Amino acid sequence: MEMLQDVKKRVYRFGNKATDGNSKMKNLLGGKGANLAEMSSIGIPVPPGFTITTDVCTEYNLLGQETVIEMIKEEVEESISNIESFMGTSFGDKNNPLLVSVRSGARVSMPGMMDTVLNLGMNDEVVEGLAKKTNNEPFAWDSYRRFIQMYGGVVLGMKPASKEDIDPFEEIMEHLKEKRGIHLDTEFTIQDLKDLVYDFKDTVKKRTGHDFPTNPWEQLWGAIIAVFNSWNGDRAVYYRNIHGYPANWGTAVNVQAMVYGNMGDNSGTGVCFTRDAGTGENVFNGEYLINAQGEDVVAGVRTPQQITKLGSERWAELAKVEEDDRAANYPSLQELMPSIFKELDYYQGTLEKHYRDMQDMEFTIQDGKLWILQTRNGKRTGAAMVKIAVDLLKEKMIDEKEAILLLEANKLDELLHPIFDPSALKRSHVIAQGLPASPGAATGKIVFFADEANKYKNTILVRIETSPEDLEGMNIAKGILTARGGMTSHAAVVARGMGKCCISGAGALKINYKNRTLTVDDHEYHEGDWISLNGSTGNIIEGKVATMEPELSGEFAEVMKLADKYAIMKVRTNADSPKDAKVARSFGAQGIGLTRTEHMFFEVDRIKAMREMILADTVKGRKQALEDLLPMQRADFEGIFKEMEGLSVTIRLLDPPLHEFVPHQLATQKELAEDMHISLQAVKNKVAELEEFNPMLGHRGCRLGNTYPEITEMQTRAIIEAAINLKERGVVCKPEIMVPLVGTVKEFETQEQIIRATANKIFEERNDTIEFLIGTMIEVPRAALMADLIAEKADFFSFGTNDLTQMTFGYSRDDAGKFLPIYLKKGILKVDPFEVLDQEGVGQLVKMGTERGRSTKPNLKVGICGEHGGEPSSVEFCYKTGMDYVSCSPYRVPIARLVSAQAAIKATL
Ligand code: PEP
Ligand code: MG
Repeated sequence: MEMLQDVKKRVYRFGNKATDGNSKMKNLLGGKGANLAEMSSIGIPVPPGFTITTDVCTEYNLLGQETVIEMIKEEVEESISNIESFMGTSFGDKNNPLLVSVRSGARVSMPGMMDTVLNLGMNDEVVEGLAKKTNNEPFAWDSYRRFIQMYGGVVLGMKPASKEDIDPFEEIMEHLKEKRGIHLDTEFTIQDLKDLVYDFKDTVKKRTGHDFPTNPWEQLWGAIIAVFNSWNGDRAVYYRNIHGYPANWGTAVNVQAMVYGNMGDNSGTGVCFTRDAGTGENVFNGEYLINAQGEDVVAGVRTPQQITKLGSERWAELAKVEEDDRAANYPSLQELMPSIFKELDYYQGTLEKHYRDMQDMEFTIQDGKLWILQTRNGKRTGAAMVKIAVDLLKEKMIDEKEAILLLEANKLDELLHPIFDPSALKRSHVIAQGLPASPGAATGKIVFFADEANKYKNTILVRIETSPEDLEGMNIAKGILTARGGMTSHAAVVARGMGKCCISGAGALKINYKNRTLTVDDHEYHEGDWISLNGSTGNIIEGKVATMEPELSGEFAEVMKLADKYAIMKVRTNADSPKDAKVARSFGAQGIGLTRTEHMFFEVDRIKAMREMILADTVKGRKQALEDLLPMQRADFEGIFKEMEGLSVTIRLLDPPLHEFVPHQLATQKELAEDMHISLQAVKNKVAELEEFNPMLGHRGCRLGNTYPEITEMQTRAIIEAAINLKERGVVCKPEIMVPLVGTVKEFETQEQIIRATANKIFEERNDTIEFLIGTMIEVPRAALMADLIAEKADFFSFGTNDLTQMTFGYSRDDAGKFLPIYLKKGILKVDPFEVLDQEGVGQLVKMGTERGRSTKPNLKVGICGEHGGEPSSVEFCYKTGMDYVSCSPYRVPIARLVSAQAAIKATL
């Protein structure tokens, strides 16, 4: 039987307007291959080449080397001659050689995980040809020695045998440097380079038993196979596992003509941006060097020159270079090579229009001909991101939906907190890293105790961990640093709420409260020493780094207004004070999703009454203390309701274990004993009695209100009376009372009855009523399972995903800092589930709880108030689950508003 002819296309060409592929073919051509094809299809001069598809990689893994080479041989040979005719050079030609690069390229970027070979096609004759062509003998020989080194490592496996081993080629170079008494690679003479090539080849022969291949074709096949093999190399497999990329994706292989920017004064190389990546200003900008290779631009040995005249003049002003000096010694590309500049300017415009976003491009000028090597969406600051999106919209390059999707939600953070002066940051010394718990920049003197936070003008509170007792000090300090705790530790949650810079879980810190020292490695820092925290990166920096206030530009407001136009899901805030509520409302919060009432009890005048309440032995004693607390709570609620006039405000009943409120230090215990006219021992006994093995699973949440109903009564009274008081003053408030940590219907019902009875009593007393809701948190897995029955009673659900994550994973929120960093490092977990909602697992409970709840109460109001309510991927998940709102800390409100809009837009695409 005759075999069907195999007509599958395995090699795709690109270059100089000719192309077989496009950017949509990422799965087949890999990201890099698809982009090169796309660029050449719109007339961008990319050095010609071809892409061997990812399918071939899979075939190679199944069928082996010989079969696969046989399959693609003809296509590869034709494609090489195609490159030759474009470039006017010839593969292996000693007078006019074509050299190529061979690179991997998976469908997603896997930076540095796979192999690359440059300058392929080089041998003893070709090197002479290149030297003649470039009129640059040292360059030709240096390229040759680099090629042997790269090829030897990647293709011939000549890598260090173990981590203690030195690279065999580096060893030879080190030896020669020592012999010649030099230190840098650049100090090698031509003879040195020639000797190195000879020694490199000699060592290849000795190690592998074969001569270094001189035939360019043999080199090419070797490199192609090596790139395929690197898909299954240790680094790539590890990276794939961490990111969950399947092994059968395979990598493509890109073979492309090398172009050189160091062929004399008519050559050069540079990088450029279609807009300013720092400010977003619509000015083409970038840097270049004449007679140089790509790495010279970034290496900092020579001063790169500016691309545009305007950029060059701005640079000169900053660098304090006189105009004569600038024009003579640092001219712009626009002045030096006007026609090349014109061409480059044209391409930058074309590329930006084509990709509808700011581009970051690399280019090379080889002997008067411009080549574009790469383009990608440029990285930018938060401020630039916002400005570029608004400008592109105004320029009608993109529409409103595209403008919203162009924004990276987390980057908005940069616009909301003080930032470090970038130039000061460059010179800074990072001493350790922790979790970037709350963004911003803080600089201050070290203090170790919350009640000493105002010891200096600017302080950084450094603690092993924080507790509610530290609240006031945390508020005073410029930043908070803890050695323990994760993204939802007390310090992190509170700091985010305050919009205060915080780094948590910095395990490398050794804190000694007694000596008042902080030790990192062997270095000791003392109270009063300056340190700085970068809450956006988790970097802990020695000394004082200058900060600057961010500007909330008009474009930021424009972007937010646009987001609200498309958002369906609402965004509320977690706020515990009128001040927080005000900030959140100014950021566009549409109500409060969580007021943690316990935070109000820690202020100086209240903690005493609270402690008296806890220490009371009788209901009567407890009620007396609660009566003292009532007016304070009522005043708090009035303040919050006023700030949130007309909007819903969810107030949660007391949640944390009582042990958190009692004093643990002897001095404070003594003080309390005196105030209450009881013995110190009685205080100590009570403190000991309240201690629990597992406080997070102990006497907390509605278990408190169900065992001490008078607490629920007092809190309900404070809420309802506050609302009626405001109603009398014409202020509309919409209270929602929330019962925490419910697991059974009865737990909720018992609380609900107390709340209703108390409210009715007040309505009678005041001869007035207000409307209010009674709902529950869904934060115990059982509540999600029983959601249909709970919803029959509850007016609303709010998912407390902090506790739900804790109880679903069985990871203590307070202790996870000990093992989560290791889990993340080992790839056992991809992300911290307290930070990013685990959609796969915990998400099932959220979905189930919502569906079951709405099965018995179709219009049940559902929201989230765990920390995930301000994390972009989690917010998107909440939208897909059909939630009515997310609630997050004030400084995350704009982020959640944006993601809410993005999620709604994505659903229509
Ligand atoms: C939660 O558990 O998600 C929640 C919001 O409550 P807290 O963090 O106060 O326990
Ligand atoms: Mg909770």
